[in-house]
Amino acid sequence: MDNINWGALPFAYFKTDYNVRCYYRDGKWGDLEVSDSEYINLHMAATCLHYGQEAFEGLKAFRGKDDKIRLFRWDENALRMQSSARGVLMAEPPIELFRDAVFTAVKLNSKYVPPYGSGASLYIRPLLIGSGPQVGVKPATEYLFMVFVGPVGPYFKEGFNPVKMQIARDYDRAAPLGTGHYKVGGNYAASLAAGQRAHAEGYASALFLDARDKKYIDEAGPANFFGIKGNLYVTPASASILPSITNKSLMTLAQDLGMTVERRHITVEELEDFEEVGACGTAAVISPICEIHDRETGRKFSYCSPKGAGPVSTRLYRKLQAIQMGDEPDIHQWVTILEE
Ligand SMILES: *Cc1c(COP(=O)(O)O)cnc(C)c1O
Repeated sequence: MDNINWGALPFAYFKTDYNVRCYYRDGKWGDLEVSDSEYINLHMAATCLHYGQEAFEGLKAFRGKDDKIRLFRWDENALRMQSSARGVLMAEPPIELFRDAVFTAVKLNSKYVPPYGSGASLYIRPLLIGSGPQVGVKPATEYLFMVFVGPVGPYFKEGFNPVKMQIARDYDRAAPLGTGHYKVGGNYAASLAAGQRAHAEGYASALFLDARDKKYIDEAGPANFFGIKGNLYVTPASASILPSITNKSLMTLAQDLGMTVERRHITVEELEDFEEVGACGTAAVISPICEIHDRETGRKFSYCSPKGAGPVSTRLYRKLQAIQMGDEPDIHQWVTILEE
């Protein structure tokens, strides 16, 4: 613990001292329990294992110059977890339970919140699973909600340096009327093969197209996609993408900067017209993209040089990070300061 090299942390699991858990049994949520074990005792017929009844969240805590711990938009994560729970018929953790669990997990592990200026942060992973047994295909009657945390470095080892992405036409991440807009494990299982192939072929991530027409940009691996064209911030409107809180925040900041924000279909052809493109999500905030390779057609779209991100992406990235760290006024009330 005393010798964590904060500046060199990977984006990976890191054992901390405590996690918190809460069971839903007999139609109600129990008390929040604190645990120092990394393991859970699970029935072998639990629905999360067989029928994919599980949803997760990802958010971060930051330490500011004033040494205070700041949480970014946790209430949005709470609402999204409720939406995911409804999507795959799980018990919804109440907002207050979500808040108590997250705040408690962070406070109990406050020594793992990386210091200001290290570039690292505390990643918070709320998890909801069907823990009750079923063999027939139906929802569980028992659920486990838990939160664990761990210090992380940037998601992409390149940090805020542009990455290459690969359009994967021979895989779909999510169906048009499926579960793409819920943060559930099944979407990730469906994306692993395309992602692994993209890595093996030298790309940071696979770029998925809409599953029906294969015409429009959908998700950028585990992140949302956006493009910048002059004064325009464009991001896909699609029922199969996860409503990213980072993207929502970037859209607000783009508007604050006087930009026009459009949520609409983006065709593969339109990729040619953008000056900057990027992927966005909690883990990396923005991953600027310097090249998109359409694997099947061989077409290449090039953006900024591999050495540097574009000016608009850079500005949005700095602005959002400054708000998260408390370096800039929190004019949209996105930040909660944790009283330790
Ligand atoms: C979590 C996630 C995102 C990013 O959402 P944030 O709220 O910005 O972290 C984007 N796409 C997918 C598929 C995700 O699971």
